[in-house]
Amino acid sequence: MRSDQLEERFKGKGYRLTKQREIILEEISKGKTHPSADEIYLMVKKKIPNISFGTVYRNLKVLRDLGLIRELEFSKSFSRYDGNTKDHYHFTCTKCNKIFDLDIPVMEELNNNLRAKTSFQVLFHRLEFYGICHDCSSGLR
Ligand code: ZN
Ligand code: MN
Repeated sequence: MRSDQLEERFKGKGYRLTKQREIILEEISKGKTHPSADEIYLMVKKKIPNISFGTVYRNLKVLRDLGLIRELEFSKSFSRYDGNTKDHYHFTCTKCNKIFDLDIPVMEELNNNLRAKTSFQVLFHRLEFYGICHDCSSGLR
């Protein structure tokens, strides 16, 4: 997203695009590792040494509310953050805990099947695969 579009997105919801928020967004978007809040804090601290964990955490919620990142909640107390806001599936390595994006089509028909079988309003679904990633399986040899 261009920086003027980004700025508009913030203004539209009554927020300001600060340097901190820009750097946090940059750090999340450049990697493919789906970092936790702690990991993002460590990444951002390299660029803004005096930033606190609380500030990073609050800004993550702002970026999420603006739809600029996604929060992947695995329980009420544990989240990873995703710079890719399109619907997609994930593969989690059970050894190194990295989360990878999967380049397979999202099965919209699952939502329709469920709508047909129940009277639930299905908004989206998440599908998580678990196993051992390339790096970890080559280390097993
Ligand atoms: Zn791994
Ligand atoms: Mn992802």
